[in-house]
Amino acid sequence: MNIILLGPPGAGKGTQARHLVETRGMVQLSTGDMLREAKDSGTEMGNRVAEVMAKGELVTDEIVIGLIREKLEQGAEGGFIFDGFPRTLAQADALGELLAEKGEHLDFVVELQVDDETLVQRIVNRAEEARAAGQPVRADDNEESVRIRLMEYYKKTSPLIGYYHAKGGLRPVDGLADIGDVTASIEAVLA
Ligand code: AMP
Repeated sequence: MNIILLGPPGAGKGTQARHLVETRGMVQLSTGDMLREAKDSGTEMGNRVAEVMAKGELVTDEIVIGLIREKLEQGAEGGFIFDGFPRTLAQADALGELLAEKGEHLDFVVELQVDDETLVQRIVNRAEEARAAGQPVRADDNEESVRIRLMEYYKKTSPLIGYYHAKGGLRPVDGLADIGDVTASIEAVLA
């Protein structure tokens, strides 16, 4: 089974993806994590994306589609969870084509629904908790970048809701519920 977790930054996509990895043996493909790895590697591509990410803007479709293409080559017995990808209509089209080339398809697109002020607060808290624990804080986990990330989401990613609604398979889930209840709602979709 292949699924997308769709939702704005701070909606809980990463948390829910990790749960599905543990319980269902699925493979999480987070383009954000891949880009952060590339950034830390100090390669030319890494340096190019670092600045864009820190601002909260989207990196080019070409880069993220390339990253996903490589990972899909490796296959996943339990299926893939796409976390933070696709974020544009071009990426969504590319994903459909890449899966079709492998004789695969998307089963569900789980849309985590949340409200903006909760998101900003969650992300600002995440940064404060990391700072207090002496852990690294994401360069884009500050209020200014979060507002830009939200705007990028509404401009470029939210059209995917209509896109997947039209294709079928869109499943809205209340992302403001307790983490365990969100998990249960997602399990109910996948059951
Ligand atoms: P995330 O960890 O998913 O919040 O992603 C962090 C940042 O990485 C985003 O704000 C973008 O700058 C970049 N990014 C992650 N995934 C994508 C994507 N699919 N398309 C474009 N940029 C992305």
